[in-house]
Amino acid sequence: MNEQFLAQVTLTTEVCCHCGVVFTMPSSLMHVHRTDGSSFYCPNGHAQHYTQTTEEKLKIAEAKIQQQENIIEAFRKRERRLEKNLINCKNLLENYVKSAGGA
Ligand SMILES: [Zn+2]
Repeated sequence: MNEQFLAQVTLTTEVCCHCGVVFTMPSSLMHVHRTDGSSFYCPNGHAQHYTQTTEEKLKIAEAKIQQQENIIEAFRKRERRLEKNLINCKNLLENYVKSAGGA
């Protein structure tokens, strides 16, 4: 007796890094493997896993962004400090010129 059922599943293709066979797995399962780095097998039995999880890639990218933002902020602080020093120098020069009888 044959039974039929209808299910909707999104499948994603993958290529075995050992034998090259193309296979599919549910996208949700692939997400789990990419997230936690757990092992899975191609149809020919070759174990494999994703070497860098999505969360690891995200953490690395966020750390790089934070590092760049820190550098930018350090440059902005330095720029503000230099602007203050420049204003102080201009004021000192103007006061010196005035005290020396200049214009
Ligand atoms: Zn394989």
